[in-house]
Amino acid sequence: MAASGLINLSGLIDDAKCFALVRQHRWPEGVRCPACEKDAVIRDGHDDVQPCRQRYRCKACSGRFDDLTGTVLAGHHQPLRVWVLCLYFMGLNLSNRQIALELGLDGSNTQAMTEQLRRGLAAKTPAVELTGEVEIDEVYVVAGHKGQPAAVAKRAGSDAVASWQARRAAARWRRTSRPSSA
Ligand SMILES: [Zn+2]
Repeated sequence: MAASGLINLSGLIDDAKCFALVRQHRWPEGVRCPACEKDAVIRDGHDDVQPCRQRYRCKACSGRFDDLTGTVLAGHHQPLRVWVLCLYFMGLNLSNRQIALELGLDGSNTQAMTEQLRRGLAAKTPAVELTGEVEIDEVYVVAGHKGQPAAVAKRAGSDAVASWQARRAAARWRRTSRPSSA
């Protein structure tokens, strides 16, 4: 018998800890205003419906926000602990169907949640741990680009397309030939 038949997992999860987790990952160096990025932020009570959801007021721009403002978790009807468990199960490579069973959700709801979580929260989410072979296709960051995008754009000029095609061909070759040195 599946564990879901015996235990309501999400009922065992502490809401306060879930919000603390989001805060910790979203603002590891202290709360910052999502509108102006300043850290002159004061606490401003709690959400009326979710008592663990801290509200804030920015002294710099007078903006108001809370723990979930600007994330995909904001305004969703599922409690935060369901999202956190969903993330956890995704990390265990459970299928959408298995996650739906464990959380007592329907399939389409679960699929919508996992898709949103895969696209990423606007704010930082708990880091996804990558194990085994990780492959990123055809993504190039020009080293000189860092901090000087204008200079790089100027330099690239008309060579950009040709060199992109060359890099793409090279990437394709690397993918298919699988060098043992890697
Ligand atoms: Zn602000």
